[in-house]
Amino acid sequence: MNSPSEVRALIASYWEDPAAASLAGYLARGGYEAARKALTEMKPEDVIEEVKRANLRGRGGAGFPAGLKWSFVPRTSPKPKYLVVNADESEPGTFKDKYVMLRSPHLLIEGSIITAYAIDAHVAYIYIRGEYDVCRVRLEEALREAYEAGFLGKGILGTGYDLDIYVHKGAGAYIAGEETGLLESLEGKRAYPRIKPPFPATVGLFRCPTVINNVETIAYVPFIIRHGGAWFASLGTERNGGFKLYCVSGHVQRPGVYELPMGTPLRTIIETYAGGVWRGRRLKAVIPGGSSAPVLRADEVDVPADFDALAKAGSMLGSAGIIVMDEMTCMVRALEVIADFYADESCGQCTPCREGAPWLLEMVQDILHGRADPSYPDLMLQIAQNILGRTICALGDAAALPVLSFVRKFRPEFDYHIEHKRCDVEERYGEVSNPD
Ligand code: SF4
Repeated sequence: MNSPSEVRALIASYWEDPAAASLAGYLARGGYEAARKALTEMKPEDVIEEVKRANLRGRGGAGFPAGLKWSFVPRTSPKPKYLVVNADESEPGTFKDKYVMLRSPHLLIEGSIITAYAIDAHVAYIYIRGEYDVCRVRLEEALREAYEAGFLGKGILGTGYDLDIYVHKGAGAYIAGEETGLLESLEGKRAYPRIKPPFPATVGLFRCPTVINNVETIAYVPFIIRHGGAWFASLGTERNGGFKLYCVSGHVQRPGVYELPMGTPLRTIIETYAGGVWRGRRLKAVIPGGSSAPVLRADEVDVPADFDALAKAGSMLGSAGIIVMDEMTCMVRALEVIADFYADESCGQCTPCREGAPWLLEMVQDILHGRADPSYPDLMLQIAQNILGRTICALGDAAALPVLSFVRKFRPEFDYHIEHKRCDVEERYGEVSNPD
């Protein structure tokens, strides 16, 4: 076992070798040893304790402790239990799970076996977004290999434990990535998010106890079982164990997925790993956790990129989709792109989201096209504030939070657009960086 300071990558270490995507290549790197250890040497509750010790927090956005979530599944319930892997990666700026499925599919399968064993599930679903068809094909091939080798099916690895894993393809709706919307979709219905509580751990798929975890979360589980929860926890920061896949996009020299210790400073990720802002320009703003996360100004990026530190800084780690904007970005136009997305993806169940998100889009478009009056920015803040926390699912907040942060932090740009009916950035630079 490497000491924490020697570890350079976990999941991404498999990506350096294209052969690691196949079963033979995965086995050559110690693949399925963690599943063997869990199934033959550990009780399900020991697995849960180890994951709790690891401080593994859900990588889908909310950052809920994975081991704790698993412990909520009522073991004595006579109903079947299910594991659902959320592979619906749809938050703009996020593209890490795609690489896990393409380049290390067996890591996801092995993590699923261990997780399903821990919660006493015998059926698991991997719900994958419709656009990720290449990933689906790769996963199905990996599942076929795993079945043939006896890692799935009846009596796995000679134990009495059975597990079947199915890949289920979504139809491309953002809201199907919300865990209860996903469950509805998996049941063959429209992906309308459910009111919580009850939470899926007790009333989930087909009204049965269900654990839903993101692809990246599950892919870290084999490392925890192999090396121990304490070791994994020591790789990150307090309460944020392990490594993290950070997706960097936008105006940087080297966009991509970087696996780094949890809590790596946001500025280091951008400047050292992603090569800094492109074309020799200055940094203007960063969205640290996918497009729904509140934006940070350039002077706010000296913050550890973990769940707690970014929350303290007024934003969130979310899905770790880091979107970098250079000094030539028009923040009104950037907000329009984001507002357009959430208005389009609202499922329409709750009034504040259904009516508020398109209203905010319309207002930002009015500002952009010289049709707004000076009352608009304050009215937008008021509307966004009235959506916040008043909806069934987090999409309402996702529509409101960017508006609140963009308008508050870049208010002069909004006012300039309204007063002069043109863009301040364009005036100064002659062109605007494309935020699409
Ligand atoms: Fe649907 Fe929006 Fe309500 Fe979520 S917040 S349930 S997306 S209307």
